[in-house]
Amino acid sequence: FKRYSVLSSDQLRIKGVKDVIAVASGKGGVGKSTTAVNLAVALANKFQLKVGLLDADVYGPSIPTMMKIHQKPEVTKDMKMVPIQNYGVKCMSIGFLVDKDAPIVWRGPMVMSALQKMTREVDWGNLDILVVDMPPGTGDAQLTMSQRLQLSGALIVSTPQDVALIDARRGVNMFSKVRVPILGLVENMSCFKCPHCGKPSFIFGEGGTRKTADEMGLQIVGEIPIEVEVRKGSDEGIPIVISAPESQVSKAYSEVAQNV
Ligand code: ADP
Repeated sequence: FKRYSVLSSDQLRIKGVKDVIAVASGKGGVGKSTTAVNLAVALANKFQLKVGLLDADVYGPSIPTMMKIHQKPEVTKDMKMVPIQNYGVKCMSIGFLVDKDAPIVWRGPMVMSALQKMTREVDWGNLDILVVDMPPGTGDAQLTMSQRLQLSGALIVSTPQDVALIDARRGVNMFSKVRVPILGLVENMSCFKCPHCGKPSFIFGEGGTRKTADEMGLQIVGEIPIEVEVRKGSDEGIPIVISAPESQVSKAYSEVAQNV
């Protein structure tokens, strides 16, 4: 932490960007990227904000697929990459720059330098909010990103099962250590409503997120059910808040957007 405290707050701030919000999780596979995408698209379309989406999940970039962006960014005269816009959101991802099937086998310093490029050497223009899809976990990359980005706050995504919540707690504690406010917990895959009989099943358990939130003094800012349409939207690159804006799930994502 001390290493970066020599930088002034102006050097840390991304020019033209009012607020930077991290979407984080202690574990992979809990729906962090899906949440980041639907949140960013909801903020842009429902709340008419100028929104950017930075895919900092360098080892498993999902934004190109989820936002259906497959071209490479152009570069300005002063050597800045131009983010690529879809669904009203300006996006940048390491996935735009590397081959689709190529393994990303970088060591720590290379990851940090890639992240540095993707935040500062990008012509974001004026943004109200930059949503950052963080790498999962609480390692060096996450810590450095949290410090360097001057985060306004972090949303923690978790499923309601114990193994995910235990790691989500680590995430909360990591942000607290670097004094980033936690905007709340998003409970993803909270329940599954049977399309045949309508009965809800709590596949990943019930009540765990509430308990964690209460113990840590946090707010639950959204409960997103498991829905085939959410998964399809991610795979097809049409976020559910675009394909079915009036659905229950889209309303749940709007609620998350309202809370940030
Ligand atoms: P993470 O970023 O935490 O690794 P992803 O957002 O990539 O997780 O989600 C993991 C998988 O779960 C993806 O296939 C995604 O489409 C799916 N998924 C995420 N949230 C939901 C949901 N609420 N309902 C159904 N599928 C979901």
